[in-house]
Amino acid sequence: MKLNEETKKAERFENLGLIQPLLKAIKEKNYTEPTQIQSKSIPLVLSGQDVLGCAQTGTGKTAAFAIPILQHLYQERHGKSNSRKIRSLIITPTRELAIQIAESFTLYGKYTKIRNTVIFGGVKQRAQTDALRRGVDILVATPGRLLDLMDQGYIRLNDVEYFVLDEADRMLDMGFIHDIRKIIAKLPVKRQSLFFSATMPRKIVDLSHKILRNPTKVEVSPEAPTVEIIQQNLYYTNRASKKDLLFHILRDSKIEHVLLFSRTKHGCDRIVRNLKSQKIKAAAIHGDKTQNNRQKALEQFKAGEIRVLVATDIAARGIDINKLKYVINYDIPNISETYVHRIGRTGRAGEEGSAISICEPEENGYIRDIEKLIKRKITVVENNPFPQTDKPMTASEKKEWEKEKQKRKNKFFAAKKEREAKRKVFKASRKRY
Ligand code: AMP
Repeated sequence: MKLNEETKKAERFENLGLIQPLLKAIKEKNYTEPTQIQSKSIPLVLSGQDVLGCAQTGTGKTAAFAIPILQHLYQERHGKSNSRKIRSLIITPTRELAIQIAESFTLYGKYTKIRNTVIFGGVKQRAQTDALRRGVDILVATPGRLLDLMDQGYIRLNDVEYFVLDEADRMLDMGFIHDIRKIIAKLPVKRQSLFFSATMPRKIVDLSHKILRNPTKVEVSPEAPTVEIIQQNLYYTNRASKKDLLFHILRDSKIEHVLLFSRTKHGCDRIVRNLKSQKIKAAAIHGDKTQNNRQKALEQFKAGEIRVLVATDIAARGIDINKLKYVINYDIPNISETYVHRIGRTGRAGEEGSAISICEPEENGYIRDIEKLIKRKITVVENNPFPQTDKPMTASEKKEWEKEKQKRKNKFFAAKKEREAKRKVFKASRKRY
């Protein structure tokens, strides 16, 4: 994998003090050099220090904590009896992230015989409790299911020596703060803790004080360099022609695998319906989809069975899709940083990427803000069969439009409610007979 200048460091994994079983697995993954967060964090974690890591997914942060934790567990387990206790606990906000982290531990720990398992909500607990009963060294968990299984007596945290809180800002965003406090209260006082967050607002810093002891701060900012290496193209079009323009863009067979962003959950569903009507394989991931649905869509996308994965910003954050070449912005975010996050999903860890944005008149102003932030002009595609001819709405037109939109929304939800009520009556009547 090619790493860009900012991400890579003139370090080698061999110089970080890592043991052979780990170096062998890293080599098999074809990582030639550690990323910035890895070369900074690995020696710190190996030396037993607490770390406050300011880094987001895509920087290689999973390996930055997984590899040194595996080394600690391996070296300290050597010669001990076979009994396994949970000696490392990783908490992360979503099921997708939890699965990815556990997979990383499995890959990097391939030659260590260190065992991990992953637990998360939304599925039956039986397989998870069975795995716990067989014994694990590392537990990767989402907060809710962890507390649930602790309450049921399946998990004790008394032996945890290495604790990681991953994506702390997102945890808070998802309302997990009470769960995290409860979990921390059950951890042994004597432990090493690592705390990762993409952003560091006051609340996060306060939380980190409760978890870490004399931490060393490690910071990496992947955004600017990532954006530089991504090819960015822009289509100006009318609101009504976005759909047809998307079909036109997807006629390019080079775009065989694309993550498409839509601001709203309904928008996601609508786009998927439109794409399917054109026989384009697509699926949506957003907060209203069940965990199972989201996971299935992600797996199918990764396996190449789905061409377009349509996602909201929150659902897509933190999901690691290797070698993603294309991102499409079906709308232009009004917060410029969101644009950077979105297009940063391609070109990860230095891979090449391409971002295509579709802009309707109302969003023209957002483009100007984005260009200011990224300090460059986005290339406007000239060969556009659906060019922008409408003007942005005036203030009064906008007001009218918002009203109309609300009316349509109300109508949609009223009809949905009615359909659900009818379905209930129908089901009840069938039960009677
Ligand atoms: P993460 O930030 O942990 O989600 O990692 C982002 C992606 O970078 C994953 O697909 C990793 O497999 C990959 N990666 C992690 N470390 C390296 C490295 N040193 N060299 C190349 N790729 C890496």
